[in-house]
Amino acid sequence: MKEMMNALLMYGPNDIRYEKIEKPECPTDGFLIKVKAVGLCGSDIRNLTTDSKKGNYPFVYGHEEVGEIVEIGAECTGFEIGDRIFSPRPVPCMECEACIDGRSEQCQNIKEPEIGGFAEYAAVSGRVLKAKMWAKIPKDIKYEYATLGEPLSSVYSCQRKLNIKFGDTVVIIGAGPIGCFHVRLAKLRGAKTVISIDIAQNRLNTTKELGADYIINSLEIDPIAEVKRITNKKGADHVISATPVVKTQQQALEMARNGGVITFFGGVPKGTLTPLDTNIIHYNNLWIYGHFGANVKDQQEAFRLAISEEFTPEKFITKVMPMKDIDEALNIAKAGEAIKIVLVP
Ligand SMILES: [Zn+2]
Ligand SMILES: [Zn+2]
Repeated sequence: MKEMMNALLMYGPNDIRYEKIEKPECPTDGFLIKVKAVGLCGSDIRNLTTDSKKGNYPFVYGHEEVGEIVEIGAECTGFEIGDRIFSPRPVPCMECEACIDGRSEQCQNIKEPEIGGFAEYAAVSGRVLKAKMWAKIPKDIKYEYATLGEPLSSVYSCQRKLNIKFGDTVVIIGAGPIGCFHVRLAKLRGAKTVISIDIAQNRLNTTKELGADYIINSLEIDPIAEVKRITNKKGADHVISATPVVKTQQQALEMARNGGVITFFGGVPKGTLTPLDTNIIHYNNLWIYGHFGANVKDQQEAFRLAISEEFTPEKFITKVMPMKDIDEALNIAKAGEAIKIVLVP
């Protein structure tokens, strides 16, 4: 008889049950981990609350899991039972044009796991090992801190490409988990002035604790005028829109200095068009970028950053909860009362 394990099975929008399913088999070219912690991602929240797997229920989500090796395949070397492993998903092929070009986040053969990380066990295949989408977690690092490596990666990749540096003035619109990461990282990279904008005061207070020099509640004051005031009418070197809102993309243009750089980090809903004043873009010499994801190298570096003392991972983990309390976890996350919630099986 097959061995069973507990997992969070999604049967439909907001219908998630903690039930038994078959435990995955240990891959011959990889290993099996016992999941010790898994982050609840913004995309998980969206997926679990909408009809995201139409016709394919039940489905197990989760891609920020970390755990301990409990079984090793016959063809897998270099690992021991008990090794602590970070292995986020999805996994790129490392063979297609995008992967070879160093843009593995755009891999044409990217593989979504059949069973996600919201479970007691997860299989780590040879494909993961070959793609270097894994790292060993040092003994003295808490598992929940290691889960931050995946969500931090796209923020890390973005700021590396933008080369945010000593002395910069950076505006981050949106103070959700991603906005929080942006604020912290911009300060660590040496930005002189980091301005955090949101409509929720509790989130703004959090970014202040993480290092934001100024916080602006855009329900109360005009964020464009306020950024101009703080920067002596000049505008910011960088403006990053980390929300799914069209309006903040428009506002971003007017917050940047001449020759400034604007990044659309948060994706707006598919098919949505943003009217932009291209006169400003042209005469102010603005550059606009889009950013999504992280390549394998950025993922590795983001993991090392996430578990470092300087990053203060403890400040990002609001709550560690049993996996079976997923409904409560979703409610807390949706209310904007948490930066990151980590689930444990
Ligand atoms: Zn994630
Ligand atoms: Zn590829």
